[in-house]
Amino acid sequence: MEMHAIVKAGEGPGVEWRRVPVPDPGPDEVLVRVTASAVCGTDLHIAQWNAWARNAGIRLPLVMGHEFCGEVVGTGSRVRVLKPGAYVAGETHLPCGACYQCRNGLQHICGNLKLFGIHRDGCFAEYATIPEQCAYPVPATIPPRIAAMLEPLGTSLRAVLEMDVSGGSVVVIGCGPIGRSWARSRWRFMPLSGSGWPGRAAAMARSRSWVSMPPDSAWWRSWG
Ligand SMILES: [Zn+2]
Ligand SMILES: [Zn+2]
Repeated sequence: MEMHAIVKAGEGPGVEWRRVPVPDPGPDEVLVRVTASAVCGTDLHIAQWNAWARNAGIRLPLVMGHEFCGEVVGTGSRVRVLKPGAYVAGETHLPCGACYQCRNGLQHICGNLKLFGIHRDGCFAEYATIPEQCAYPVPATIPPRIAAMLEPLGTSLRAVLEMDVSGGSVVVIGCGPIGRSWARSRWRFMPLSGSGWPGRAAAMARSRSWVSMPPDSAWWRSWG
């Protein structure tokens, strides 16, 4: 069976819209019918084939994409929990399950970590396979357009949980989706752009509000 996919076929700029075989899940994997995907900055690096992408160990040709949700439609022989019909969101970090970190609850810094959509085929396709332990069940009340962004949301949530930020003043540098979701987690956020925003940023910082600003702003450069 074949499917449509966005493929990084070779070195150099650009991507291809191709028909490729629907992947078979390995023994510990599930086959997911992708219902929504999100585009990450990483995907743009890969599409442009810039210096980061050239040095990321990307396996070509590659079905791109790593932020997604969908419905489990097939399971490998050793899959025990997820059943066909499960609504899941994908986790990008693919731990080996055997190293010291993996055996001590630190799979996210696995010594043999692989990345979905970078080191193996990803989710810019009609179907994707992913290890069962990287497919997280999602409540049906969360729409696919949100469930597809749980992976980057996890990045910003982790940043909040890593720091003692309650009641503090915080500057979020960068107005991308992760920075915005981080700031929105406190519901006191104003995207800063246009003339006059450096003054607003300073005022919001003084008032312990949450601000976000683009890293290439003149204001930020003026801080050296
Ligand atoms: Zn990403
Ligand atoms: Zn490991």
